[in-house]
Parts: sequence; structure tokens; C-alpha cells
Amino acid sequence: MTIAADLHIHSALSPCASLEMSPAAIVSRAREEGLDLIAVTDHNSVENGFFAAEAGARIGLRVLFGMEAQTREDVHVLCYFAERLQAERFHARVYPLLPDVANNPDYFGDQVVVDAEDNIVRREDKLLLNALDISVPELVELVRRHGGLAVPAHVEAPPYGLLVNLGMAPPELEGAPLEISSACPREQALRAFPALARHPLLRNSDAHFLRDIGQARTVFSAPEPTPAALLAAAREGRFRAECPADHG
Ligand SMILES: [Zn+2]
Ligand SMILES: [Zn+2]
Repeated sequence: MTIAADLHIHSALSPCASLEMSPAAIVSRAREEGLDLIAVTDHNSVENGFFAAEAGARIGLRVLFGMEAQTREDVHVLCYFAERLQAERFHARVYPLLPDVANNPDYFGDQVVVDAEDNIVRREDKLLLNALDISVPELVELVRRHGGLAVPAHVEAPPYGLLVNLGMAPPELEGAPLEISSACPREQALRAFPALARHPLLRNSDAHFLRDIGQARTVFSAPEPTPAALLAAAREGRFRAECPADHG
């Protein structure tokens, strides 16, 4: 069977995302867009993904637990977990690696944890849009040890793309899936970075507003529509990307 997925969506917990991005609003929009599965991937936090999973379960939309981690090299890496406990343990390991810098909501925007009923649970005081004190290879290893999958995000794009900042994928990511940004045609990314041909390439929306959800997506082939089966399909490259940028 096929699973239509958008695995890079920011919620209101990301300071750069719109406050309309509550877990309930995200899953309902994803359903309208015909998606089967999503991941909420806030900067250096997994928290709103738990509420998205709760809201998604009510309308038959599966949610993979995720985070967009920022490494010491200022590289963005999507970290995915099929199980809530894996994501919680991973989050507990990386949150202390975030510098103790307070968020300035007037400058960066609010960072709010919102439950499945649209209630504000709390505000995150530490600025999430910051680099964790961990390298790309260390982060990839840490995600694996927690049973997850690490996928460097928008690898061809400055200022946070892996290939822009490191020039190449480290050996830990040999043949691993990478994400290229929704705005960049696949051929253009391959011309700029020919080594991309050795990797399966995911596409996602990187939505910061509801209207962007599902505008780029990846369709996976898996025996069942579960987060675990999707992660296995991602690791093995059993997917095809659907992205308007590829068609001019
Ligand atoms: Zn990013
Ligand atoms: Zn992002």
C-alpha cells in the first residue's frame, strides 16, 4: 500500500511558525490535503508532536514523532521516532544541549505548547531556534541509539543545509535518505551537488503556515500505514517524491 506523508511541519512551538499552527489545526488540514501520515518537526523540541498524535488519532491521521534538530555546525537534521517513549527519551537527552538563552517573543515569535483541544499548556522560555552542542555524526548516532531515523533537512539550501555547511554527507549517512527543499527542483539540486545521486531524496513542505501543509510530499510503499513501517520504507528508499518545483 502507499502512504502519502508530509514529514516536515512546524507548529506554534517553533518561534518562526504561525500561531495558527496548533496540533489540531495541523492534523485537520493534513487530512483535507489527503495525507495519511505527518510529522510535526519543531526546532529542537518534540512536545507538540505528542498532542498532534492525540488529535490525529481522532480523525484517522497517523503522526510520526519528530524534531528538527540544529547541530553545532548549524545543520538542520530531522529526527524521527515511531514510538512516543523513544522520542521522549531522545528529547530529554538533547534539551540540555540547548544553550540557556531566553526567547525574545517580540523578535523571534512565541513558542507555545498547545494541547489537542487548542489550549495553551505552557510557553517555552528557552530560545529553540539555536544550535545544540552536538555534531552531525554524534546526533545521527544518538538518534539511531534511540531507535529513530535522522534525515538532514533541505540539504542544498543555505544557511542550514548539510551540503552547504559541510560540503558532503559524513560516512554515518552513506546512502541514507536526505531531504531537499520543496522550492528547489530536483535536477537543480543534483547539478549543484552530484553526490546527491547516491541518496534517496525526500520532499516535504517545511510548512510554517496551514496553507503550506502537503504542498510537497513523499509517497511511501509499505505493508501497513504505521509510523514503524514508514520508517522502514524511508531507510530502504521505498518512496517517490511529489513536488511542484520539479515540474517547472
Ligand atoms: Zn530547517
Ligand atoms: Zn523546518
